[in-house]
Amino acid sequence: MSCPLMKVCPAYASISDEADKSHLAWAFCRTIYHDCGIYKRLVAGEAVPADTLPTGEPVTAKVRKRTERT
Ligand code: SF4
Repeated sequence: MSCPLMKVCPAYASISDEADKSHLAWAFCRTIYHDCGIYKRLVAGEAVPADTLPTGEPVTAKVRKRTERT
């Protein structure tokens, strides 16, 4: 089942449109949305930082991890 918040989610457009993040849209937005860090914050009425990924991490954490592996 797809996430019921797709139309109001501040991150959905960039997640689904950017090639390096589209796997997140498939994994979270179209499947396990209840595990999405953004979803959890939205339903709790909390603010969502603009750079938050569905994993709950900021985009910068993803970049840092990639750099650490190389
Ligand atoms: S990023 Fe999270 S809250 Fe936003 S549409 Fe996807 S699953 Fe829903």
